[in-house]
Amino acid sequence: MYLYNSASRRKEEIIPHEAGKISMYTCGPTVYHFAHIGNLRTYIMEDVLEKSLRYAGYDVKRVMNITDVGHLSSDADTGEDKMLKGAKREKKTVMEIAQFYTDAFFADCKKLNIKKPDVVEPATNCIAEFIQMVEGLLDGGYAYIAGGNVYFDTSKLKDYYVFNNFDAEDLAIGVRDSVSEDENKRNKTDFVLWFTKSKFEDQELKWDSPWGIGYPGWHIECSAISLKHNGEYLDIHCGGIDNAFPHHTNEIAQSEAYLGHAWCKYWFHVMHLNTSNGKMSKSKGEFLTVSLLEEKGYNPLAYRFFCLQSHYRKSQEFSYEALSNAEAAFNKLLARVGALKEDGEVDETVFAEYTKKFNEVLGNDLNTSLAVTSVYDVLKADTNDATKLALINDFDKVLSLDLAQQAKKLSEKKDEAPANEEDAEIDALVAQRTQARKDKNWAEADRIRDELNARGIVLTDTPEGVKWSRK
Ligand code: AMP
Ligand code: ZN
Repeated sequence: MYLYNSASRRKEEIIPHEAGKISMYTCGPTVYHFAHIGNLRTYIMEDVLEKSLRYAGYDVKRVMNITDVGHLSSDADTGEDKMLKGAKREKKTVMEIAQFYTDAFFADCKKLNIKKPDVVEPATNCIAEFIQMVEGLLDGGYAYIAGGNVYFDTSKLKDYYVFNNFDAEDLAIGVRDSVSEDENKRNKTDFVLWFTKSKFEDQELKWDSPWGIGYPGWHIECSAISLKHNGEYLDIHCGGIDNAFPHHTNEIAQSEAYLGHAWCKYWFHVMHLNTSNGKMSKSKGEFLTVSLLEEKGYNPLAYRFFCLQSHYRKSQEFSYEALSNAEAAFNKLLARVGALKEDGEVDETVFAEYTKKFNEVLGNDLNTSLAVTSVYDVLKADTNDATKLALINDFDKVLSLDLAQQAKKLSEKKDEAPANEEDAEIDALVAQRTQARKDKNWAEADRIRDELNARGIVLTDTPEGVKWSRK
């Protein structure tokens, strides 16, 4: 399998530290709010990567942290802890916020068929490990204490800027960070390993440490959690592109300084999902969540399909129009899958030929759009339906679009479809009236009710929505 490695800036064959096994680490969500669909694009692509590696026969162990402390509003250790901000916003405790948004994150993942990593570790579970690592860095001369905080000394490294050649826009957070400088830092790029002093003294979660009562920096979490569960050598580290600098750069600095040897070989970064106004945000513009897409009537798996259609190393622009087109294409694909019949024996030669090709497109830097095309190729193949179904189910181990089940659901829906055109029109009017009421457009809702009334239609409200019947 070949992947683009952001550390070497070229496509490389994956050769794991231990033959046949892959250790993989994913930066998890900061659980102060819902994930937006941009965050989830990154998790979908990482999920496809994990499943492709399994498909190729590797024994994968994937670890993910949950950031429930230490991620400040700016990635350069300034501003208030995001968790505390979330707690204040909702007048709850930090731990209540963390639990609620961790659950919400995994509920979204489930809807998008993103598998839960083998290990999920909240940062607040690992304070002892962080302290141990910070002590090691101080002992080794890689860290210093200033103004009550412990800092990593980036001048002690030969090579600090591993990921610093991305363009400024991709690294917007890292760039923005230079605005407010911490005067305790000896070098501009130094970062906090442990805080006991900050401008925000109302930090809710604090722990005792050799340097006083305080809390860990954000970067140390990922290094220590990966070390705890994946050992001293990590094969693949994943994250969205904004994590490359400073977060991943700092992870490499402190992990290698602590271990005394090279740490992670392959770095997998997913480019951003943007809106036509630029970067997606939780605070500006429409807050795009999976629940919002569902409220608007989209199938979450149509969003997964939309993501698979573009390459993870290209930014993707989101619009409802593009999502609707993806959903229409997805439904057409499902209709074709639904028309396949179990008609005999699977042709093993054809099966082997197509699975080999599927593996190849994934193995070529995770070409997900060609992986989706493989399903269309199977549908067109000169073989029986049983072989086609077997192949589609096999590909779905990676694509995770629930193709067979969704196709069945879609055909059942069709069976419930209106018997004639007049009924279809009434269904549409009832739906329009429901939407008008949702939009608080009472005049339009009344107009539609009157029109239906004139046609002899009675409306009844039920827990499943509005039902209609003839007088
Ligand atoms: P956070 O919860 O902010 O720590 O981010 C969770 C993940 O989403 C990280 O891997 C980020 O790099 C990634 N991410 C943030 N914004 C976007 C975006 N617009 N598109 C894709 N991934 C993103
Ligand atoms: Zn991380």
